[in-house]
Amino acid sequence: MRMPGYRKLDFLMSMTISQTTVKQILTRCTGYLTEVSSHSLQPYRGCSYGNALCGVGCYVQHNPFVTKGREWGSFLEVRTNAAEVYLQTAPREKKWAREKLGAFSIFCSSSTDPFVPQEKKSGITKSLLEAMLEFPPDRLILQTHSAGVLDVLNQLQLLNDQTELRVHVSIESDCERLPELPPPAATVSKRLEVCGILKNAGVRVVVTVAPLLPIKNPVTFFEAIKQCADGVVIDHFIGGDGSKNGIRTRKTELYQAMWEVDPKSVTIEYREQIILLARQIMPSCVGVGQSGFAGHLE
Ligand code: SF4
Repeated sequence: MRMPGYRKLDFLMSMTISQTTVKQILTRCTGYLTEVSSHSLQPYRGCSYGNALCGVGCYVQHNPFVTKGREWGSFLEVRTNAAEVYLQTAPREKKWAREKLGAFSIFCSSSTDPFVPQEKKSGITKSLLEAMLEFPPDRLILQTHSAGVLDVLNQLQLLNDQTELRVHVSIESDCERLPELPPPAATVSKRLEVCGILKNAGVRVVVTVAPLLPIKNPVTFFEAIKQCADGVVIDHFIGGDGSKNGIRTRKTELYQAMWEVDPKSVTIEYREQIILLARQIMPSCVGVGQSGFAGHLE
């Protein structure tokens, strides 16, 4: 039974893609990311996966600075001079970060995906990684839902020698679909395969189960993650979506779909239950919330 107020998604929403230049590409972190890295970096503004499963509850849709009133998933701005600006500003930002925080660390990306489908043509993230090979940060976290990360495997292997690199692959559940919601950016099996390829290539891989969605077979799921990743980070929309008691997510279709699959999954107790189980399967390799994203695994 559907809860009142449910709105069917427009799966076929058209998307406006534009090119833009920026004056800054390294943003000093505030809020949730403060503990995670010194800077965030967005190769794009907006996200093509806004109409995929992860886009339904995506926290960025609530950021008016990013959306400027536009519907999430309806726009993508390609930052054509991102690499150039990185090289111009990184020395100054590195100095600031090392003095203030002890390390120059970059989270890429918190409000887009570095490997949106348009990356294949524009190569903005690739050009940024090449710029980082010229001027490496102390630490780089690449966060993605996409198999497109494999297109830059060579750059990642080279960067691995110059910086503390880890790739976060988002796999929020073992369910390929949630009721009446769009498909994910890549299938669960594809993302697990991507993790395995990265790990075999010597790249540190962390699966981010964030936000945690209902998991049908948790034992099998975490056993699979254990085979292909170095760690896992678990976060729930309650406490993780930047609003009190997850009120933002409760207003989205994601909440309804989670509740339909497993009513327990919309409670914070579900997160605790899953953490306990994950720690049995992957001891010393499980992080939670902000500290997990920062790399603290227990
Ligand atoms: S890929 Fe990330 S930024 Fe893009 S819609 Fe999904 S969760 Fe949001």
